[in-house]
Amino acid sequence: PSNLQTTDVAIIGAGPVGLFAIFECGMLKMRCHVVDSLDVIGGQCAALYPEKPIYDIPGYPRVMAQELIDRLTEQAAPFEPVYHLGQQVTALSQSETGRWRLTTAKGTEIDAAAVIIAAGCGAFGPNRPPLTGIEDYEGTSVHYLVQRREDFRGKRIVIAGGGDSAVDWALSLAELAEKIHVVHRRPKFRAAPESIDRLHRLAESEKLDLVIPYQLAGLQGSGGQLTAVEVADLEGHKKALPADVLLPFFGLSMNLGPIADWGLNLDHQHITVEPATSETSAKGIFAVGDIAVYPGKLKLILSGFSEAAMAAHAIRPLVYPDEALHWEYSTTRGVPQSAQS
Ligand code: FAD
Repeated sequence: PSNLQTTDVAIIGAGPVGLFAIFECGMLKMRCHVVDSLDVIGGQCAALYPEKPIYDIPGYPRVMAQELIDRLTEQAAPFEPVYHLGQQVTALSQSETGRWRLTTAKGTEIDAAAVIIAAGCGAFGPNRPPLTGIEDYEGTSVHYLVQRREDFRGKRIVIAGGGDSAVDWALSLAELAEKIHVVHRRPKFRAAPESIDRLHRLAESEKLDLVIPYQLAGLQGSGGQLTAVEVADLEGHKKALPADVLLPFFGLSMNLGPIADWGLNLDHQHITVEPATSETSAKGIFAVGDIAVYPGKLKLILSGFSEAAMAAHAIRPLVYPDEALHWEYSTTRGVPQSAQS
């Protein structure tokens, strides 16, 4: 197939641990392709808590989750990883030569000597509201994540949902939007009490309307551009809210998904691995980070980093079967030139 890519190591998941695996493989001269179902890098750190500090990363007394991701991306960059974002890995199979072939939902195929599964709790996906034709607006007028606040300046925004994300983004975007409607099917919000108070105070102004209890009922627009969002009350009475953008915040769902069907030994939605190498029950397939389990496993980013290092060392002879490894510390060998500028 024309979109077949060949590499040393295919990494499933661009969370913190998948990113560090690129570095560890890179130091051992192995190139990586990385696939993630989300269209941003960073796994849970970027998707769930970008602006929360983390206190247990060695050497960083305090680091924001998104900053950690930015640093890991920078650390991996000299090894020129190829990212395939916004696509779930749906199939994994072995060829007669013993190499592995990964297939994504978008039809990308990756041929690799070894695979590192750094898939966290499985593929993340937003919980989509069941609105006819919503796919036509996704990425243009409908967004499940806010990446850049600035993109929403001067816009008429409908925010749907009643949790922290809906409330926090309503408060934040009210500073630059033209108008915000917050649609929630219950009269009460589930968020920090202080934030809920601020939301109600803001609703006394022209800037923000609380549309409660209502739920999403339909979309109006064309060519990917919304003009209005239809909502209905509990009796089914509809009205249309003029809007340029819809932000549904109904949470992210996590699903081990296709990984469960690859014949690997599992333990309660986790992949069991050999603790010394992070190898799974299939030769050449490794699992690291939150998805990997062994006796004494700690579900922390720092243990994932160590697992990534062990996996990389175990993979090296699969990529270079005839070459003994003269291993040195990163301080001895340095990283490629591009990293040092
Ligand atoms: P993840 O970050 O889960 O990334 C996995 C990625 O794989 C996801 O992006 C997913 O979309 C992708 N993926 C899965 N399946 C597929 C597939 N089939 N195809 C394509 N892509 C796929 N840990 C700490 O050490 N310290 C903390 O202070 C801390 N605080 C936390 C606070 C919160 C609120 C939360 C939710 C977690 C916290 N954690 C903390 C835990 C930490 O975030 C996780 O341990 C870490 O994210 C695991 O990294 P990972 O790379 O293994 O997986």
